[in-house]
Amino acid sequence: MTNINIETCHSLLTWMSEKVKKIVILTHANPDGDALGSSLGLNCVLRKAGFQSTIVYPTWFPDLVPNQNEYNNWIIYEHHEKEANRMIEEADLLFFLDFNDISRTGKVKNKLEKLSKTVVLIDHHPQPMVESPFLFSDTKVSSTSELVYDFVIKMGWGSCLNDAGATALLTGIIADTASFSHNARRPELYHATANLIELGADQLKVQESLFNTNSIDRLKLLGYALSEKMKVFPQYHAAYISLTKEELKKYNFKIGDTEGFVNYPLSIKGIIFSTFFLENEEKIKISFRSKGTFAANEFSSSHFGGGGHHNAAGGESKQTLSEAVEKWISLLPVYADDLEKESLRES
Ligand code: 5GP
Ligand code: MN
Repeated sequence: MTNINIETCHSLLTWMSEKVKKIVILTHANPDGDALGSSLGLNCVLRKAGFQSTIVYPTWFPDLVPNQNEYNNWIIYEHHEKEANRMIEEADLLFFLDFNDISRTGKVKNKLEKLSKTVVLIDHHPQPMVESPFLFSDTKVSSTSELVYDFVIKMGWGSCLNDAGATALLTGIIADTASFSHNARRPELYHATANLIELGADQLKVQESLFNTNSIDRLKLLGYALSEKMKVFPQYHAAYISLTKEELKKYNFKIGDTEGFVNYPLSIKGIIFSTFFLENEEKIKISFRSKGTFAANEFSSSHFGGGGHHNAAGGESKQTLSEAVEKWISLLPVYADDLEKESLRES
């Protein structure tokens, strides 16, 4: 069971059939596998159901969904601001996917703030900050893509889900669960996955396009990060990796190259909190991952102005890289008890 309420779906369906022709789907900036998968999947369905639907992505993104260039009707806000603004203005309905707060949409936020349009929110982040009669928020669900699957079925649009749509949704599920390794305890997740495969989702292609697309530079950067830049604090069950602008340049860094680096320290026995610091032009981008009861999102919101999920969160710092790292190190004793408690539970 998810929080996709069938009565809410019915009233949305009635309202959409009377009032809605044009739809814009929005995701968070720097869309990841789940943001891309859920939006491309939903867009396929909405188009087949007869709506004029378009996706507006706030910023550029790498290829993650198999045959991604064959999906149509999307636009990147930072590259086509005028056209995207016009689409948003003309839309009868907006879908917000995979974010809980318009501050996550980069520059699109300025546009959204000035509008009053009906929104359907489908998301699995805590504390949705969006006002809507059509709010489908559920933190226990693996991914927004799984929620979109459930939404599509409950809206009666199952027959509009073709193999491309199903493949996109499966990409989101596999990306957000890291191949069913976390947020993957609910049996319903596997029912949804089985149904998507029956509808033609290509599981092998999804695995290939998400995980077997390393460039030589990225793999070498990972090797360098792990051998030279990973610092482990066994007494606090914590570890971090940091990379400077110069180091990134040396390995011909491209956006997305460090995706997933933060997970590696967590694979060390006894480590339950991992952090990755990435220096870019304006700020330090930080990723947090944790195991069990240790709340990565609370750590981030308390100290690094971010948030996210309980075990996977992001944040940032306007300090220098070494200052941000020093701050993180200085916080470890404060969390020593929580970290110790979780490590005892794990072992
Ligand atoms: P990542 O480390 O992969 O960038 O982000 C992990 C999770 O934290 C994602 O689910 C993302 O939605 C969330 N997240 C990342 N950066 C931020 C941020 O700056 N603010 C908030 N509130 N959430 C973030
Ligand atoms: Mn997600």
